[in-house]
Amino acid sequence: MGAKKVTEPVMPPQGGWRISTGDLVELDRAARVSEFWARIDRRGGDDACWPWTAKTRNYFGYGQLRWEGVQAALTHRIAYALSQGVTYNKLGSAVIRHTCPESTYRNNCNNPRHLRAGTQAENIADKALHGTNPRGERHPMGRRFPDTLIREMRIRFWSVPTEQRPTITALAKEAGTSVTVMSRWLRGEQRADAGGPIAATPGGFPQG
Ligand SMILES: [Zn+2]
Repeated sequence: MGAKKVTEPVMPPQGGWRISTGDLVELDRAARVSEFWARIDRRGGDDACWPWTAKTRNYFGYGQLRWEGVQAALTHRIAYALSQGVTYNKLGSAVIRHTCPESTYRNNCNNPRHLRAGTQAENIADKALHGTNPRGERHPMGRRFPDTLIREMRIRFWSVPTEQRPTITALAKEAGTSVTVMSRWLRGEQRADAGGPIAATPGGFPQG
């Protein structure tokens, strides 16, 4: 008596309300892929090099991030895999070569049009072919640290007011080298020909 009528509960559809996990995986994947491309500078157009713009780089200057469960996946390999419609792991041990027309972003280009799957031997031949700096990048030690990386470190250190400078320790850690070596790079005592500023210019920013 006086009891409120209980609305008949809506019955769940057969099998229950479910969002297919397949859909979620697809959506998540699509979001990850667009996030990935958003971090690549493609403004130069189809034929230009497409550098990775995020700070996550390894000491070879290659962009890297967590991808498909791989902790430090290399961005150019991701770009190549995406362009081929295959998973990152599917690339296996294949060497993905850079065939960039110019060497500015040699290790850091993610334009699939500049990437080829090849053998290690082809990769080395390619580097020799495109190498322009016998005392710097082609030096056995120098090759670990491309000129672009060293130049970028110099710019980030010298081209800002003193109080905004990153610490040498932080830069060294990021590049994967010692504080001593980073300090020598910054002052131009090593890899002078990598370019970029090697001292602050009083009253103004030095040329990059
Ligand atoms: Zn390129």
